[in-house]
This record gives sequence, C-alpha cells and structure tokens, in this order.
Amino acid sequence: MNLRNFFASSPHESSLLKESIMRVTTHGTYLIQLTRLPRLFPVNCYLVREDDGLTLIDTGLPGSAGAIIEAARQEGAAIRRIVLTHAHGDHLGSLDALHQQLPAAEVLISARDARFLSGDMSLDPAEPQLKLRGGYQTVKTRPSRLLHDGDRVGSLRVVATPGHTPGHIALFDPRDGSLIAGDAFQTRAGVAVSGTIRLLFPFPAMATWSRPLALASTHRLRALQPSRLAVGHGEILAQPLAAMDQAIAVTARQLGELQPYGA
Ligand SMILES: [Zn+2]
Repeated sequence: MNLRNFFASSPHESSLLKESIMRVTTHGTYLIQLTRLPRLFPVNCYLVREDDGLTLIDTGLPGSAGAIIEAARQEGAAIRRIVLTHAHGDHLGSLDALHQQLPAAEVLISARDARFLSGDMSLDPAEPQLKLRGGYQTVKTRPSRLLHDGDRVGSLRVVATPGHTPGHIALFDPRDGSLIAGDAFQTRAGVAVSGTIRLLFPFPAMATWSRPLALASTHRLRALQPSRLAVGHGEILAQPLAAMDQAIAVTARQLGELQPYGA
C-alpha cells in the first residue's frame, strides 16, 4: 500500500496529517521516540543522543520535518546524521525536507535499499524472486554513506535484517541494549514479526517482501538480547525477550505450516 496516496486520498485525511502533532517520549538515557498519528496509524521515528549531537532514525511520513527539528531543538542538540531503516515511504517521507533544512547532516541507508531511492526496483539473482510490497518512494536526497552489516553509526551497530525489505537494517545501541528494529517487528496490536498479520494493524505485514528472511532476521535480533525494543509502528517495549520469543514462535509455526505450499 502506498501510504502517501492513502493519506492524501481525501482532503479530510490530508488536513488531519498536517494538523497532527508529534508525541515525544524519552526511554532511558539515549533514546527518544517521536510518534505521529498515534491513534489512526502510528509512525515512529527516533532520536538517539550522542556526544556530538543526535542521530535521527527514520523520518516519518511527509510533513514531519518541522516537528522532528523542533523535537531536536527541545533536546538542545543538533541532528548530525539521518539513518533510514528501509526505503518505505512512511520511513523516508520527510527525508528531502530534512536534508534541505539540515544539509550538513549525514544521510545513511543500507547499500541494498539505497537502490530503491532512485527507483531501481530490480532484485538480485541470489534474492528470493518475490514481489516487492509496500510503498517504495523515490527521493531527491542521495545518501552520503552506504551501510553494511556490522557498520557503526555513532554508538549504534548496524544489523542487517532483510525480509520486510531486501536491505532492511536494525540499529543496536550497546550502551544500554536498546534495539531500534524498524519494521522487523511491530508492537502495535501485539508484538509480531514482520509479515505476520495482526488483524487490528495489518499494514506492516502487508508491506513485507520475504517472510522466511524476515523470520531469520528476528533470530539475529533476539541473539542481541535487547533490553528495549523500539519499532516503526507501536509502543516501545522494555524487557522484550519473552514477547519476541513468542512472536518468533508464532511466525515459525505459520511458516512451517506454509512450507509444503512453497511460501
Ligand atoms: Zn516498512
């Protein structure tokens, strides 16, 4: 689903989008969650405190730039870098506007998902030849650095977590165990692995490319033993291991059942 079209589809919804305000919550010493439309369709982005300023993770829907910059101002620190967990429109919707206003900030995304930014929708031969899902959106901004598994972004460690998109990444903060998982998990309407439908909030699942890869990626995230799970859609979960285990087990069981049909 193309969220931009969804929200722009009626004047009422687009004005709702403009009028909505950003909810700001702090979690521990380093992590700040910014949430747009917390009731209708909650979309999170994050600020992470670093010695030299702030790292912004994801940029939300179009129209979020002003509220993000204001949130950073309230923190009394500059946004030094902008990292995208993946190339879906509800995560990079305000990238161009932010880049315009913060031209000195680094822009980082995985080398794999960077291709989508300029409209290259091809799959690599080694990748599952599955239909790409979700609202990919081209942007004018070009990344200043391309990320790979294990790279560092300030204090954060890049964890390749393909599945929701081919080049999806999560970011792990070893200072306090916070895991910013993008859409690899959702916590809205119950904790779930990307691709596993939660009836009350099915959108991330509908936008997932490869469920088997998404499941494999969750094992990597679980192995980090995060103290805090922060996702693109839903509340931050403290002490998330049991909930992650349960969500992983549900998806593993579903995929096990689906395997004879080749899914
Ligand atoms: Zn997504």
